[in-house]
Amino acid sequence: MNFVVFGVIAPIAYFVIRYLVKRLVINFLQGLKRNSNIKNMTRCDNCGKFVSEDSIKLVEGKNICTNPGCKNNVKY
Ligand SMILES: [Zn+2]
Repeated sequence: MNFVVFGVIAPIAYFVIRYLVKRLVINFLQGLKRNSNIKNMTRCDNCGKFVSEDSIKLVEGKNICTNPGCKNNVKY
């Protein structure tokens, strides 16, 4: 009887552990990506602040950040 119970629980536990490990690895890799984004800092040509490349827009050949306070200062 114990043998049958282990035969059922062991595969389930195996898949649950595998799923948890996979999630941990994915979270870890996403954390690494986030960290590498922080390293890719670009200077805003308008306000001079260093912001991540995600929040930089190229406007007329200039790097303009998407900070609300900065947008208002852009002269088109
Ligand atoms: Zn700016």
